[in-house]
Amino acid sequence: MTFADLDRAYLWHPFTPMREWLAEPPLVIDRAEGNHLIDTEGRRYLDGVSSLWVNLHGHAHPAINAAIAEQLAKVAHSTLLGLASTPSLLLAEKLVALAPPGLVRVFFSDSGSTAVEVALKIAFQFQQLRGFARRVQFLTLRSAYHGDTIGSVSLGGIDTFHRVFQPLLFHTLHVKPTIDELQQAFANHGDELAAFVLEPLVQGAAGMLIQPPGFLRAARSLCDQHGVLLVADEVATGFGRTGTMFACQQEGVTPDLLALAKGLSGGYLPVAATMATEEIFRQFLGLPDERLTFFHGHSFGGNALGCAAALASLALFEKEQTLANLAPKIAALRARLHDKISPLPHVFEIRQKGLMVGIDLRRSRSQPYSAEEAIGARVCRIVRRHGVILRPLGSVVVLMPPLSITSDQIDHLVDATASAIAEATSEPLPTHPAPLPSQPQPSTAPAPLRGIFIVGTDTGVGKTTVGVGLLALARARGLAPVPFKPVETGADPDPEDALRLRSASGRNDLPREIICPYAFPPPVAPALAAEQASTPLTLAGIISAARRAAAYGDFLLVESAGGLLSPYSEDLTAADLAAALGLPLLLVARNALGTINHAALAIAELRRRNLPLTGVLFVDTTAGSTPDRAHNPRLVRALTGVRVLGTLPFLPLPTPDQIADALRVNVPIDALFPSLR
Ligand code: PLP
Repeated sequence: MTFADLDRAYLWHPFTPMREWLAEPPLVIDRAEGNHLIDTEGRRYLDGVSSLWVNLHGHAHPAINAAIAEQLAKVAHSTLLGLASTPSLLLAEKLVALAPPGLVRVFFSDSGSTAVEVALKIAFQFQQLRGFARRVQFLTLRSAYHGDTIGSVSLGGIDTFHRVFQPLLFHTLHVKPTIDELQQAFANHGDELAAFVLEPLVQGAAGMLIQPPGFLRAARSLCDQHGVLLVADEVATGFGRTGTMFACQQEGVTPDLLALAKGLSGGYLPVAATMATEEIFRQFLGLPDERLTFFHGHSFGGNALGCAAALASLALFEKEQTLANLAPKIAALRARLHDKISPLPHVFEIRQKGLMVGIDLRRSRSQPYSAEEAIGARVCRIVRRHGVILRPLGSVVVLMPPLSITSDQIDHLVDATASAIAEATSEPLPTHPAPLPSQPQPSTAPAPLRGIFIVGTDTGVGKTTVGVGLLALARARGLAPVPFKPVETGADPDPEDALRLRSASGRNDLPREIICPYAFPPPVAPALAAEQASTPLTLAGIISAARRAAAYGDFLLVESAGGLLSPYSEDLTAADLAAALGLPLLLVARNALGTINHAALAIAELRRRNLPLTGVLFVDTTAGSTPDRAHNPRLVRALTGVRVLGTLPFLPLPTPDQIADALRVNVPIDALFPSLR
């Protein structure tokens, strides 16, 4: 068998659509030298993303290789449970010397995810131990990414990665990285928070999003004012990537907990660390029966080979003056990006912090590329022909070379990327919007849809009003939303709700049949109306109509008919449709007497089917107030544990913008766009 055969036969690659992967020959890396990876055919590639953001000084560096070999001759691994080990002690001492002052304790694990998982569990237990039983929430940044274990995924907000696991996650609060929003979040939730977790200065996997200057300092001071721990995830930003050893140092901030991994071992072996202040550590000191122990540990935490590699990598920072040499490289990279990549027509923005770069590609200023177009992946495929390995984040092309990159290699990296972007963006992409097929075409390999599915606890609960507001919000975000109301009854002569949605989407050019394929005049239940019209409503028919509609934009907003279990036919309900479309769900409930029972039943059904519920949104469908209204959201949250997003107040004959404004004021808007980064 060739290596390619072995790959096809045995490997399951991380974060990889395997069906697509299996259709192409794999690139198999066999060895590496310095900043180049070399494949089984002997072809050399510049490692433009440091082997997923880990490598610092180049591959097969003699000093790191020698340190690992020397340690190997002594012992490869011994546990830190009940024992100490020489390399882990020396590494802990070194990290304390390098980290922001005050971080004096080191807890070792083996990946970025575990470093974050450890931090959040320490933060939680710390707050409990010091008597703040109410501090059980975590605040994170919008579009956060902190790893792939369930705890770190709960902190995350990248829908493509996280949506499917939603039923397993604990609830976290997300905030936009602006000082105003942060202040607001602390004002609203400061006394419920255990910790605020963030990547300092730049959010890597979110697409290299750079925070405004002073944001981290403001976070530190808000955490101090409100008794909240500040957790810095420097898994990506640590070890020189942003130009200083740690990003926190650029704002003179010491977090309470610091998560490190990736570059910690120079990118050679899986070593991670969570650093803590003495105050946190002391809270866990006690006799065994006082239950103060931190019950967490990984078999390979503090691995001896990894710690030896880390010590050698940190020694190289001194010997090779790595940090001092970074500034000219960062400046050269900036200048080259400016000259070669900024002028390209589909480059919307270049975001750079140190040697971390995100090149954001858009079809036009107001129109992003759709996920199906996979523009970032195209660029990365093409750039290989130019001898460079990159990996994108959606439509953002990421450059994150090793700190050891030379100035010639910077030129090569940028020139190759510029050529690949120019070629990829001039290739014909799928037409947009897609031509209207004459027949619904069931697809054999459907791409995942992006959008939201609005279901109701019942009929007449305000779904269309919410949909209209969401469409206006989507447009304000620069999206091209398309509404889809599969079935509407009482369409005499027109399906009014569907037309209201169409108008709010700004897509009056779309035929009514695209927005609402099944419109029936009698004002009766959908199943009955379809039966009377002898028009069978089938799952396949509705799904292919939804996909057809989706091709006209980049965000599909589906509004189901009736309540979650209202039948479309004898064996088809909105819940079946939701399961088949795979979109995140928004449950709309009328804020009135009787709603709790309906909401609880709908939520139980969604849970039973393991459907991804974003949250419940209440709507005041009439003016005035009743005693129930104030209590319904609270009771639904308490009874079901589901996230209640807020209440849309009653608005007489509102315009789409008025609804959008009311949503902005009353609801955490990002929660309504869960499928966006
Ligand atoms: N935190 C951040 C900021 C990351 O960028 C990553 C990985 O990209 C992680 C955590 C997870 O690290 P790992 O892949 O080592 O689990």
